[in-house]
Amino acid sequence: MKVIVTGGCGFIGSHLVDRLIADGHNVTVLDNFSTGRLENLQHQMSSKQLQIQNIDITKTDKIISYFENIDWVFHLAALADIVPSIQYPGKYFQANVDGTFSVLEAAKECGVKRFIYSASSSCYGIPSIYPTPENAEISTKYPYALTKYLGEELVLHWGKVYKLPTVSLRLFNVYGPRSRTSGTYGAVFGVFLAQKLARKPYTVVGDGTQTRDFTYVTDVVDAFVTTAQSDISNEIFNVGSGNTYSINYLVELLGGTVAYIPKRPGEPDCTFADICKIRRILGWEPKVSFEEGVSNILKNIHYWREAPVWTSDSIREATKDWFAFLSKD
Ligand code: UDP
Repeated sequence: MKVIVTGGCGFIGSHLVDRLIADGHNVTVLDNFSTGRLENLQHQMSSKQLQIQNIDITKTDKIISYFENIDWVFHLAALADIVPSIQYPGKYFQANVDGTFSVLEAAKECGVKRFIYSASSSCYGIPSIYPTPENAEISTKYPYALTKYLGEELVLHWGKVYKLPTVSLRLFNVYGPRSRTSGTYGAVFGVFLAQKLARKPYTVVGDGTQTRDFTYVTDVVDAFVTTAQSDISNEIFNVGSGNTYSINYLVELLGGTVAYIPKRPGEPDCTFADICKIRRILGWEPKVSFEEGVSNILKNIHYWREAPVWTSDSIREATKDWFAFLSKD
């Protein structure tokens, strides 16, 4: 197949590119390197199956030439993280909503066969049902969640109106090697791994009993590929691990000391995907246990050497706007 991966130099995108190349496909990556890193695909540089374009996806006319004769599009390019989305909602709207619109238009004009969107489980906000099914209430709590959800709505609308064969995958807490390490205070693995390397305490939010559906990146990649290979369209699927794990358990697996920091507003005590639908319709199953995933990540801990080491004080400073804007409903 001829395939486009937008955001292919990012964390999940680069693992998807690895899998597609291993499966024999020809891959064009579109990435503007806002958070993606060329190093994530350094090991693939000699592959004749890979082409990387340093390009912004937000203008259809700039990207459309790459979409000619493309079979599958995986749209993963997006801005992530909560705090900067509160501070700069316009940037998030442009990247995540305008960007998705632009990529959809290019895919539609060129008649691509499959369009798979990387959506976020943050659309469920603080769910009232666990495990959370795809038809649970949507309740976006901050601009990142909103813009990813608006992107999903566009994708499904293009499926309905223009018959573009689209699927949206709602990903739950993806983790694994190469998870992002930018200067922004973000996903827990990056924070804890840098703290482990620096022999500093893990900054545990609340009492650490909150749980997350941590889903290993190669399982997520497998969900993308399985979806592309199927002929199912205009559907939404949760992608989760089939379980949920406490932050205290993560600390136990990583080993080390703890510093407790205040609970954050707008944050669920649990995320836990109901994955019955993707199991039933696509036959997809998560394969990597949490213990195995954490052990794999520890083998690659060197990746986080350059990552910022957060402390209770620097987190308090970095999350000021989070606490100011997302105080309890
Ligand atoms: N978390 C933590 N300390 C940190 C950052 C995160 O204990 O310094 C916890 C957080 O409370 C949440 C989990 O780790 O329960 C996952 O947080 P992350 O920001 O990675 O994802 P999200 O909250 O969006 O699911």
